[in-house]
Amino acid sequence: MLQRARAILKEHFGFSSFKKGQEQIIDSILQGSDTLGIMPTGGGKSACYQIPALLFPGLTLVFSPLISLMKDQVDALDSLGIPGTFINSSLSFDEVEERISRAARGQFKLLYVAPERLESDRFLACIRSLPVALLAVDEAHCVSQWGHDFRPSYRAIEPFIKEMPHRPVVSAFTATATAEVQQDIINMLGLRNPKHVVTGFNRENLSFSVFRGENKKEFLLAYLAGRKEQAGIIYAATRKEVDTIFEFLLKKGYAAGKYHAGLSDEERARSQDQFLYDDIRIMVATNAFGMGIDKSNVRYIIHYNLPKNMEAYYQEAGRAGRDDENGECILLFGAQDIQIQKFLIEQTLVSPERKSNEYKKLRAMVDYCHTPHCLRKYILQYFGEEDIPEECGNCGNCNDYNELEDKTVDAQMIFSCILRMREQFGISLVAEVLKGSRNKKVLRYGFNNLSTYGLMKDRTLKQISDFANILVAEGYILLTEGRYPVAGLSPRAYSVLKGQGKVLIKVRQKETAATGDDSLFDQLRGLRKEIAQRNGIPPYIVFADSTLRDMSRQLPADQLAMLAVKGVGQRKFEQYGETFLELIREYAAANGIILRTGKPAGEKAPVNETPSHLVTLDLYRAGGTLQEIARQRNLSVVTIQDHLVRCGMEGCHVDWDDFIPSQYEALIRRKIEEVGAHKLKPIKESLPAGVDYFAIKAVLCKMGSGRLDISK
Ligand code: ADP
Ligand code: MG
Repeated sequence: MLQRARAILKEHFGFSSFKKGQEQIIDSILQGSDTLGIMPTGGGKSACYQIPALLFPGLTLVFSPLISLMKDQVDALDSLGIPGTFINSSLSFDEVEERISRAARGQFKLLYVAPERLESDRFLACIRSLPVALLAVDEAHCVSQWGHDFRPSYRAIEPFIKEMPHRPVVSAFTATATAEVQQDIINMLGLRNPKHVVTGFNRENLSFSVFRGENKKEFLLAYLAGRKEQAGIIYAATRKEVDTIFEFLLKKGYAAGKYHAGLSDEERARSQDQFLYDDIRIMVATNAFGMGIDKSNVRYIIHYNLPKNMEAYYQEAGRAGRDDENGECILLFGAQDIQIQKFLIEQTLVSPERKSNEYKKLRAMVDYCHTPHCLRKYILQYFGEEDIPEECGNCGNCNDYNELEDKTVDAQMIFSCILRMREQFGISLVAEVLKGSRNKKVLRYGFNNLSTYGLMKDRTLKQISDFANILVAEGYILLTEGRYPVAGLSPRAYSVLKGQGKVLIKVRQKETAATGDDSLFDQLRGLRKEIAQRNGIPPYIVFADSTLRDMSRQLPADQLAMLAVKGVGQRKFEQYGETFLELIREYAAANGIILRTGKPAGEKAPVNETPSHLVTLDLYRAGGTLQEIARQRNLSVVTIQDHLVRCGMEGCHVDWDDFIPSQYEALIRRKIEEVGAHKLKPIKESLPAGVDYFAIKAVLCKMGSGRLDISK
């Protein structure tokens, strides 16, 4: 059976290998086991039930949360040559009848419905007559009230399964679920001895960063300026904020769309469509936008406000880069956003148990914004992964090459103030006291008489509380749970107060630069848009960005070569292959490029094998900064630096002066001559802390040393 699954993957989807976890999940379903698949967004969950759907004799019933997207899902199936349909409230009575009877005659392999359908007795009666072999619950975390996006009607699925004449294989899928939520899914859906496949939550192609204390509007303008062609989503916490950002962008000449629950159904559907169809590139939205949106070429997600918890954040951020191309996830933190989230918790929840749970999750979210360590590690740890590398090399903190600064004295002031306030108050009041503010509460408690009063008066309140929040994220300050958390000290903080430990913290540099696109890729994208418009489907259903990117890399000359491109299957080729080949041939003729012809089946077409360090050199010569190149290539900055050094050793020209701090150049040379060039570590240790390894290597390259040992 797996053999046939693999053939379907190639034939219909155009992929020659499974993504992580797919094979296991498909195998388990084909063996008739209930299966819970936890795979990250973009991990390829749909194929996990669509492929078995084609192999099972009967029908596959898919529960999917958003009726507005069912048409797109079915269009996407259609473009893959898979017969599917949906039933929802947009259809007339007759249309529903017709689809059911066609399903009964075996004309569809997949039927999509929203769980709310289960409230209709008529629908239940009809569906019982259908030969359902497999049931797939997409976005299954919606069944649990402990996760996010809780949808009560998901709870109707389990009784529905119980009453089916023949119990189908039941499968459930989600991207973001802590262990607690995973167990809840198993219980609430009544999965029987489920095979539990967790592929891990990491999304290597996404970079993460947090910016604190930015002027958010200016940040947006600077960020968007270089990304006019890229699709992205800006999430904000409230409708009002969405409206404001939307107006602001329009005024600045950006074609943006907006989406929130305060708009009419038509308005929402229109802006969603415009976004899916690449008519507008920027979507400004509340969290109402996006669940189940499978647009694969979203390049960035900006959170303009703090999300309510890590689950929501990762789900939303995860909408970038479903096509495996790079995506950027940026969070703009402002302390006032914590208040908005607290307000929302108070407004929407009643049960004290759930409230306290939400406050705890909110705190974890705030800690994410303040941790000086690897952001990816923080996320993966949150979701319960183990054995995570300390640094990912692809997040704002890992790429922060600023030196650690000794902040022990500042920390001691804060700790001591907390102690003097008897560990009974929140961070904002502690900050007021340190600032020396004459605020009513400060005076009422007589805190103006404390020795720590006004100790940090040269800072702004915001700087003080930002720093205190870093100390929370670092585990020095402990906060109680609840709406008004009270700050206390951990044993580590006591040690620091006693002078037995240091507080070393990095001070963040700012960096936001855009990456360019090459022209064949742009032309392919233009063609895709034309075709999509002609056929009334979203562009990414024609081909994903990653497919176009692979096409522009592989430069196929004919059908065989085209079929070797990732994401081009037989069916897609029949529909669009020749049109794209034509454009590629024209491009090649105009630019004097030789195209690749295909090898017969079985042999893999050769891939363009430029050595990695030379690819880096090209990008560097094209004007990319090291950070940009690292991000574009999904490598760490250190690797990119080593690439350049290797190029230098191979005699390629690199402008080393760009990387050598001029005030230290003479000193570095002297130390190299003193210590010898065979080992870098002793050289580095004899230099000021501000000189990094790369600067030393750059000097060595400039000196033309052939004895360079990159291994340190
Ligand atoms: P999820 O539902 O897990 O977020 P999707 O099912 O929407 O992810 O798939 C994400 C992307 O991955 C789609 O563009 C899909 O075509 C692609 N994809 C699925 N399976 C594979 C595979 N085996 N190899 C490469 N790409 C794949
Ligand atoms: Mg999905």
